[in-house]
Amino acid sequence: MHTPPHTAREAPTGDAPYDVLVVGGGIIGLVTAWRAAQRGLRTAVADPAPGGGAAQVAAGMLAAVTELHYGEQTLLGLNLASARRYPSFVAELEEASGHDLAFRTCGTLSVALDADDRAHLRELHAFQRRLGLDAQWLTGRECRRLEPMLAPGVRGGLRVDGDHQVDPRRLAAALLTACERAGVTLHRARAERLALDGDRAAGAELAGGTRLAAGQTVLAAGSLSGRLPGVPEEVLPPVRPVKGQVLRLSVPGPYAPFLSRTVRAVVRGGHVYLVPRENGELVVGATTEELGWDTTVTAGGVYELLRDAHELVPGITELPLVETRAGLRPGSPDNAPLLGPTALPGLQLATGHYRNGVLLTPITGDVMAEALTGGELPPDARPFSPRRFTRHPAAVQEHTA
Ligand SMILES: Cc1cc2nc3c(=O)[nH]c(=O)nc-3n(C[C@H](O)[C@H](O)[C@H](O)COP(=O)(O)OP(=O)(O)OC[C@H]3O[C@@H](n4cnc5c(N)ncnc54)[C@H](O)[C@@H]3O)c2cc1C
Repeated sequence: MHTPPHTAREAPTGDAPYDVLVVGGGIIGLVTAWRAAQRGLRTAVADPAPGGGAAQVAAGMLAAVTELHYGEQTLLGLNLASARRYPSFVAELEEASGHDLAFRTCGTLSVALDADDRAHLRELHAFQRRLGLDAQWLTGRECRRLEPMLAPGVRGGLRVDGDHQVDPRRLAAALLTACERAGVTLHRARAERLALDGDRAAGAELAGGTRLAAGQTVLAAGSLSGRLPGVPEEVLPPVRPVKGQVLRLSVPGPYAPFLSRTVRAVVRGGHVYLVPRENGELVVGATTEELGWDTTVTAGGVYELLRDAHELVPGITELPLVETRAGLRPGSPDNAPLLGPTALPGLQLATGHYRNGVLLTPITGDVMAEALTGGELPPDARPFSPRRFTRHPAAVQEHTA
């Protein structure tokens, strides 16, 4: 699908409302705004720092198959559908923005370091096969032939050639440019409160007092989506922050190519992955911590990541450590996103993408454009309606009494 971009437009003045106001300009809010503008909707984004958010920390794995978890088969369908859209999405966004997204179709290798990990990975492989997914079992020797920097102790692994990667920072920057070129108006301010007009959402009040009127408001504020004042309790999304710490190393010329694909493992119950970019960056992630909105990088977090990554690929200790950072995944109760209309007329959600927000960016844009123009989610996206969590007002009163 390629819709010609609209020309940049002036911000509507006075009472002239936007068709769509997106609260939050992370990758999910921006892709929603871009697709809405392409459909001819007058669209604005409110965010004090658009293009920021969790994408500045994320590794950018497009890991529909290697991130498969038991009980998440419905989410798997959405993840695979988004993964299939990635090549054409990247081509379209690169053309629209003039940015290179560093999309690499390099595949992923999940390895086991001991007998327990191996048994666990074997089970996962059987599950993947039952679901018809493409994953190939390799012996330890075959893994090391593919990736010679792997530790000699690697006991086996799963080769998944369809799980790729993209640079999330470039994705965010490209979406911002594409939005501007498509005529999306950016308000660089925080939304302080959802505006209501009778029993409808009607835009938002921004820090500084500006009120933006809009026919439809999309709440896409990442891990803060459940905190916007004015949103009635029964439609407030149950989204929470899940902290992740990540390291960035660089691979100097003599060591390149250090790894040719994403390599991941479960070490002592924790997930560790190494994502090598073509520009020499090597991303090592990530911790998973339930600590509220804390984004402190801790000595313990860095230590654990380096210890586990070193067990997997001993040579990493030679590489320069160039960045340590923590970000917040917007987690939902079932680890799946909340997309589309809520029980409050005029309010839609695009949030709760948890550990797959980068992967789910293409499909989220398409699904939200459908919901904003047609009022309904396309059939494949209906399991992700926010209504699965809508609480009855009476139950909310009882709960909060
Ligand atoms: C460590 C880590 C590793 C990850 N790795 C991967 C990966 O490999 N693959 C993958 O697919 N995903 C990954 N993710 C997940 C992915 O980054 C997120 O799911 C995704 O970035 C969420 O995007 P978002 O736009 O919903 O939220 P955010 O990125 O949190 O953006 C929300 C935006 O809303 C704004 N905002 C908040 N409140 C308000 C308000 N009141 N008014 C206006 N604006 C507001 C903020 O300023 C922010 O810009 C990872 C995340 C982390 C933290």
